[in-house]
Amino acid sequence: MKQFIVIGLGRFGSSVAKTLTDNGHDVLAIDLNHQIIQDISNDVTHAVEADATDEEALKTLGVRNFDVAIVSIGDNIHANILSTLILKELGVPYVIVKAQDALHGKVLTKVGADRVVYPERDMGERIAHNLISSNVLDYLEFAPDYSVVEILASQNMIGKSLGELEFRSRFDVNVMAIKRGQHLNMTPGASDKILEDDTLIVMGKNENLDKVRDF
Ligand code: ATP
Repeated sequence: MKQFIVIGLGRFGSSVAKTLTDNGHDVLAIDLNHQIIQDISNDVTHAVEADATDEEALKTLGVRNFDVAIVSIGDNIHANILSTLILKELGVPYVIVKAQDALHGKVLTKVGADRVVYPERDMGERIAHNLISSNVLDYLEFAPDYSVVEILASQNMIGKSLGELEFRSRFDVNVMAIKRGQHLNMTPGASDKILEDDTLIVMGKNENLDKVRDF
């Protein structure tokens, strides 16, 4: 279970915060607006009314103990950039920020954002792709018990072939690809051996994927 902070609970931020909580993660939701905090308080782990440009306030909330922060303050670009800077300076390892446009994104990268997202642009592209091809990931959205995940090869896997490991019969999951450095084997077969530092891309029921992680 990871610990997330979501700052700015507009449509994007509140949807990120609720989805993370629904998937069993710890979520601290922060917004300036009292009513918004009241409304979301039953849907996330903690909801706090605070100004994300106030360094002392973020320090008091212990943001440095969280793994990931998502900054989704929209219209106030100044607040969006400043809170990103503060979160990085306070030591949050991974900060994802919603940007308005490419120039804004560039500034966010300069102040330390680890990932910049453009939800409207990305969603537009996704819908367009969707219209011209079917996408397995969209099916997964409607099957919340199933996921595609990356799993680092464990000691029990290293040196064995997929045939020997029998993932399908043992765990009822499918190894879709094997990542080795920069190379991606997208058609793995029974004779393909798993080496140290390989990452397997595996699809299956969440409970079965947990078993593969523990194997
Ligand atoms: P969306 O498109 O996701 O609905 P938006 O891009 O229109 O949202 P805004 O509504 O401008 O974004 O901001 C999202 C939220 O961020 C608002 O609920 C606002 O109260 C909150 N917010 C703005 N500034 C701050 C701040 N300094 N600290 C905490 N929250 C803030």
